[in-house]
Amino acid sequence: MNKILLTAVLIGMLVNAPAQKKPLPEIARVVTKSETEAHLRFLASDELRGRDTGSPELDIAAAYIASEFSRWGVKKVAGANDYYQPVALEKKKYASTVDITVGDLTLKNKEDLILLDGSNLTWEGEAVFVGYGSEADMQQANVKGKWVVSYIGASANSNIQQAFGESDEKVKRAKQLGASGLTEIVATPGVPWQILVNFLTRERIALKGDEPTSLPHLMMRNSDAAAVKTFLESRTGRVKVTLVQAVGETLPGKNVLGIIPGTDPKLKNEYVALTAHYDHVGIGRAVSGDSIYNGTRDNAIGTTAVLQAARYFAANPPKRSILVMTVTAEEKGLLGSKWFADHPLIPLKQIIFNLNCDGAGYNDTTRVTLFDVNRTSADEMLKSAAASVGATLNGDPAPEQGLYDRSDNVSFAAKGVPAVTFTTGFNAFDNEIMKYYHQPADHVSNVNLNYVNRFVRAYVYAALLIANNPAPPAWKPGDKYEAAGKALYGR
Ligand SMILES: [Zn+2]
Repeated sequence: MNKILLTAVLIGMLVNAPAQKKPLPEIARVVTKSETEAHLRFLASDELRGRDTGSPELDIAAAYIASEFSRWGVKKVAGANDYYQPVALEKKKYASTVDITVGDLTLKNKEDLILLDGSNLTWEGEAVFVGYGSEADMQQANVKGKWVVSYIGASANSNIQQAFGESDEKVKRAKQLGASGLTEIVATPGVPWQILVNFLTRERIALKGDEPTSLPHLMMRNSDAAAVKTFLESRTGRVKVTLVQAVGETLPGKNVLGIIPGTDPKLKNEYVALTAHYDHVGIGRAVSGDSIYNGTRDNAIGTTAVLQAARYFAANPPKRSILVMTVTAEEKGLLGSKWFADHPLIPLKQIIFNLNCDGAGYNDTTRVTLFDVNRTSADEMLKSAAASVGATLNGDPAPEQGLYDRSDNVSFAAKGVPAVTFTTGFNAFDNEIMKYYHQPADHVSNVNLNYVNRFVRAYVYAALLIANNPAPPAWKPGDKYEAAGKALYGR
């Protein structure tokens, strides 16, 4: 070899240095059991008191996550406040006045009525009774501009789940037909009114400014008062409705986020979003003298997976850019992720995939579970990731629980971003899961750290495969979010 050529080769080697390390040994080197355990111990410690939304302890968890991001050199996102995205939350008290006057009778808040949705309102006009409120019932009653009254459910035989399940559809139907409000009479046997009152009138946390966009919607106790009977028999009558909401209280909230720029000149404009909620449910009913709901499985494990991914990718950036984000208030209704999706600091059409990490727990350490397989074209990569730690990938074993739509992935999916939740091995909603799921017993001391660390490695490898794959993942044809995806990416 001549000298000039040799020099060229040497320069070439220098330019290309440092050589890409082999990913699996490098992931194994970075993602260690002791590091995983350290994150879990801190996040799920009694001192963080269950990481409740709005608590100072959740802010401590946020500071810990930001401190880790800074240690590994994760970059701040333009438009964020340091590593934080403030999330405007509000503690909402239940409505102070909910009255309906029919004839000479005034039905009262909680005694007879529960407000499910609606802002301050005084309304007077014609109400119509539409039986069980099917499409045909409503068409026939010509509900436009009227207050619709129906029985809850689809028939006298509806059980409680069916009855409530039917409710959303009925609201949509009434709204589409131009109705002014909907009151559903709870005539389902075996549903004690007081339990509904206790459950549905509790204080709750919501996104600020998330005003009800839907129709005023109430529930009414089944009543045999004369005025109600007269109304139901004639199927029509005049009513007056008064709704007064209580004043809310602002709560601080924050998502913790950062980016690792990709190495490919083109693909670095695309992002893989790695997310996990870092909140849990705080302090609650004591079980065996313990009232701190530590939330190791739900979701210190997911938070740890994102932290480990941040560390790995900061040192080994892939072709696409990585967004690492731990979100707040998942347990209050996916609020932090919904806030980001509504106020994205990176345009959503540049986010090509969301790999969320969340879990109820595990009962099968030979698996990694996905909510859900057959939703996106990323399945093969996710299978390889599970296989890299000697596990098999399975889909949702309990579709009746609707878990796909119960974690932060759905905030992205609803906007069209292909999104799945990666979770620890789970083959059924059995006693092993329920022993820890939202229980004070969800401690670090009873997790299998060898397994959890393998799971975290699989998560990091899955993210790497997706971030380096030439084509971005797409929704499977016919998926309920496919149309949203086409609208978002224009493809
Ligand atoms: Zn969770």
